[in-house]
Amino acid sequence: MTSNIQKRDSLFRYLISFMVVTLALAQGCRNESLRNIPEEGLAAINADSLRRHISVLSADSLFGRKPFTAGEGKTIRYLKQQFAAAGLEPGNGDSYLQEVPMVNILATADPAMQVTAPGGEFTLRAYDDYILWTDRTVASISLDKTELVFAGYGIVAPEYNWDDYEGLDVRDKVVMVMINDPGFRSGDPAFFKGETMTYYGRWTYKFEEAARQGAKGCLIIHNKKAAGYGFIVQQNKFNNTRLQLVRSENEPEVCEAIGWVPESTACRLFTAAGYDSLLLEQAGKPGFRGMPLNLKLTTGMTVQSSYNKSYNVIGRITGTRRPDEVIIYTAHWDHLGIGKPDEKGDSIYNGAFDNATATAGLIELARAFNSLGKKPERTVVFLSVTAEEQGLLGSEYYAQNPVYPVEKTVANINMECLSRNIVTKDRILIGRGQSELDDYLEEELRRTGGYISDETHPEAGYFFRSDHFSFAKAGVPALYAVSGVDVIGKGREYGIRVQNEYRDKNYHRPSDEYDPETWTMEGAVEELKTLFMVGNRLASEKKWVQWKPGSEFKAVREAGRQDVK
Ligand SMILES: [Zn+2]
Repeated sequence: MTSNIQKRDSLFRYLISFMVVTLALAQGCRNESLRNIPEEGLAAINADSLRRHISVLSADSLFGRKPFTAGEGKTIRYLKQQFAAAGLEPGNGDSYLQEVPMVNILATADPAMQVTAPGGEFTLRAYDDYILWTDRTVASISLDKTELVFAGYGIVAPEYNWDDYEGLDVRDKVVMVMINDPGFRSGDPAFFKGETMTYYGRWTYKFEEAARQGAKGCLIIHNKKAAGYGFIVQQNKFNNTRLQLVRSENEPEVCEAIGWVPESTACRLFTAAGYDSLLLEQAGKPGFRGMPLNLKLTTGMTVQSSYNKSYNVIGRITGTRRPDEVIIYTAHWDHLGIGKPDEKGDSIYNGAFDNATATAGLIELARAFNSLGKKPERTVVFLSVTAEEQGLLGSEYYAQNPVYPVEKTVANINMECLSRNIVTKDRILIGRGQSELDDYLEEELRRTGGYISDETHPEAGYFFRSDHFSFAKAGVPALYAVSGVDVIGKGREYGIRVQNEYRDKNYHRPSDEYDPETWTMEGAVEELKTLFMVGNRLASEKKWVQWKPGSEFKAVREAGRQDVK
């Protein structure tokens, strides 16, 4: 009996899937015949000109493209020139620039921190055992026997019935919390979002929440897997200048002292407090309560702040029929500047892959749209933002001070790190399931024999780590897809190895340099063609793409737009 039902069931399923496939094919053909392929636009996207832009943008003479340096001036000038040469109109009135007022904060931390424990005192060394900085613009900050509290993941998330601060008094204390969220180590996809990091897992959230709780300081416990990068990435920023948007009076205050400790330091502190590293596991279990550690921290830092302006570079092609409706392509132009030398003595963080590749791609897309015989009906904006590496500041400023109203902005398509030396069949869609833009990408990939892969590191929270996130927060549907791993002729394992190798050896290091021998940019051309097709379709149609049900950004969009159905 069971087997009969199964047989009937599978026949039924077979028929259903046959019908689905037939319908999908018919649908595909219809879309195909309706859409003519803008060959002249596709043909304009060119690997050699990408390579030329990348070699200029990542040259040592641009000093790593850090905002407020001589490198910024040169970068901005080049982009303005190239936008004009690509036929773009100025995107901000009669200017290609949008001013972004920022404050540059240099916190110089004491070389050590005293820890007063029940069993005696000991010293932690700055850089090796912890890093500390401030986002406040005061002359100095000091911790003077300030109490330390462990607050698990430091998360208050009513929708997950989770509150790490419940019953804890952290006012004027330093709170130590873990990176990522409890779903990460749980193995349960339904607990938070399982392996996929929620915004509660991001370091920016940890500092924001600690400030809301009234803490004087916040230290995040680093873990390479949970953070998605090594501790060295944080160490590289130590005692270096940091940029912030100028805070307005009514914005909430930030913690006085913020920073990171490696897991080894956290364990030392737990031991001194009479606990052990098991706390790191227990913190992910429902019902876990954080605790004061009965340890006191003493250290300080001096702070210098200077105010200055950086620039977003912005150009546009005005739509022929609905010019007030815009599609915005973004790629950040900035990188990390000059910093701590690597083992070879190189101190220039060229940022060739991150993000000269996509900045070059933005210029190529501009040329592609400009070479269309039939110009786009909606306006297409090309926005190269500043200070992404300092915390998405240029895009955040744009989203708060939009040149084109956000409710008239149809979509954002963001680009970072276009493929250097591999061509892949697939693309990795970051934050899959958020908006209908996923379907646009998928259809375009299917047309050209490609497909979408899942993120290789969903725990790293990449959806919150690039400029499309600033648009998403403002309610604008945003697409962020990066090169895949299924390398043509070599397969997925090879692709994953290439990706991990870059992350471990070159990401945010001086060795992220352009190599004319191996950087063919052929994969980048394919990526750009796909994104061009998606943008061109958006620019030709009347439809407003929507966030999908369940997206945390849907409500923001619908509150701002009257004509959303
Ligand atoms: Zn980047």
